[in-house]
Amino acid sequence: MKKKKPNYKLRRKIAKLLLIIIIITPLIIINKTKILNAPLYVTNLKYTNVLDSMFEINFNNKEAKKTIDYLKNNNKINDETDDYILKIHNLGYNNNVVKYVIKNLSKSEITDFLSRKYNKDFEKYISCKLFSYKKYERYLSYENKHKDLSIDDIVTRIELNLDKTYYYDSVLIKNPNAIDTLANKYLEIPEDYEPTDLVDMDDSYANNTYGQKQLRKEAYEKFVQMCEASRKDGVNFYAESAYRSYEYQKNIYNNYVYNNGQDEADKYAAKPGFSEHELGLTIDLANIWTITTKGEEYKWISKNAHKYGYIIRYKKEWEDVTGYAAESWHIRYVGIKNATAIHKLNIPYEEYYIKYIANKK
Ligand SMILES: [Zn+2]
Repeated sequence: MKKKKPNYKLRRKIAKLLLIIIIITPLIIINKTKILNAPLYVTNLKYTNVLDSMFEINFNNKEAKKTIDYLKNNNKINDETDDYILKIHNLGYNNNVVKYVIKNLSKSEITDFLSRKYNKDFEKYISCKLFSYKKYERYLSYENKHKDLSIDDIVTRIELNLDKTYYYDSVLIKNPNAIDTLANKYLEIPEDYEPTDLVDMDDSYANNTYGQKQLRKEAYEKFVQMCEASRKDGVNFYAESAYRSYEYQKNIYNNYVYNNGQDEADKYAAKPGFSEHELGLTIDLANIWTITTKGEEYKWISKNAHKYGYIIRYKKEWEDVTGYAAESWHIRYVGIKNATAIHKLNIPYEEYYIKYIANKK
């Protein structure tokens, strides 16, 4: 009898198929277990880790519901928190937002958040370093009035309290002695503050005709270096005004009000307690009226002042942030590192301070 020849072709096919099944099946099972049995996957993890796991799985509502039920049954989360994830999700937010809200907002804040309509910009808000949900209502109302601004600008401006009434909603500065302190119409210098390291300015660098000019030591030393350097370049300027005491500023302001009225005064002169000159770090360059933005001095200062730690404090394009009309003659000492960074960024000191200094303190 003729032996039947085995069908090798078919056997090879079956072997191949078996091999594929052996390799693929565990992969499918592992994935399925991960997704369908999320509660098992997250067992024994702490609450925040549980949430992390849910986001890693990239849950859909059904999976999240299942996970939440499991956590609830095992007393890992309570009745109040259980629905948050689903509700935020159902409002239309993606996992990124859900995660942020669950992790960073308090229960009352989450309740508040859930009572609001979907905001397509919310993800932009939470990506801002300075975002704080406590100020969310203020952002929204400011955004409403300033539709041309970016979300980042809005968050920055609220941080600077620009939505409040200047002079009247001001906050007292806690560190007037710090070289990099910020003083403006929203941040008040304490009435009794007087720098302890004021030095007299030499006649070659200041107009002392109507009273001895003073500046804080560090700022003065750098100013002298700056004057010497500019003179080598054939550019000449000196201080017409420098440190002013609270009392002195009071007289200036009252005179302005008397001569020009309150509105004009608030535009061009600072109320006592609100002038940078009271810090002893600020100089009005002379001759005031020749330091225009087109003048040689201004050009030199724009290019070089940062090398000596000085910045031009009030520019035309910054008026709505600084609260002051442009002053080409008014420079402020902030230290070389800060001045150099500001020179590069070309942003008002308010913005720099809130983003790069206040945050680190
Ligand atoms: Zn000034």
